[in-house]
Amino acid sequence: MNLVLMGLPGAGKGTQAEKIVEKYGIPHISTGDMFRAAIKEGTELGRKAKSFMDKGELVPDEVTIGIVRERLCKADCQKGFLLDGFPRTVPQAEALENLLVELDRVINYVINIDVDKGILLERLTGRRICKDCGATYHLVFNPPAKEGVCDRCGGELYQRADDNEETVQNRLDVNIKQSKPLLDFYETKGYLRTIDGQQDIHKVFADIEQLFGGLH
Ligand SMILES: [Zn+2]
Repeated sequence: MNLVLMGLPGAGKGTQAEKIVEKYGIPHISTGDMFRAAIKEGTELGRKAKSFMDKGELVPDEVTIGIVRERLCKADCQKGFLLDGFPRTVPQAEALENLLVELDRVINYVINIDVDKGILLERLTGRRICKDCGATYHLVFNPPAKEGVCDRCGGELYQRADDNEETVQNRLDVNIKQSKPLLDFYETKGYLRTIDGQQDIHKVFADIEQLFGGLH
């Protein structure tokens, strides 16, 4: 079960990744975790990656691919893996294809959790935080009993600057623009499976499980 998980911010990728890992026992490999582990282990590639990150530069693809190779060769990936946040670009996807040929493996599915932009905006801009106790609310999913007031302590609720509509809209637009060629690439390869992420989270997972039914 070799999987790539895709989805825009707010689509519920993290939640579904957790459920996949729990049910199928394959490791969730996020780019950030992979880099942190390589740096911590002090591998040559980890040191290289760190030197770019310390300068605030992007880690070059050849280093990233090397780290992915090391990670996919570990024992816990024998049954499969769930890649999240990698590949991010078509050249990275092509490099992953080559790497998998080398490892005598294939991608089974690229799962895209699809949610309309308007709904993502609502999900991502609805968060409110209590100024006094830090409790978090969501205008749609977990609203306070009285608008603008913390249920727990009566404190005033505010919206974080990076949750405001303009910032979120920009973040989504950048992500949409970046992921489009990658989705097209995987569509052409025949790997892409689109899951309706606007359903209840249990139903989203049921759809993913159904997809995996074909793999056994
Ligand atoms: Zn409070």
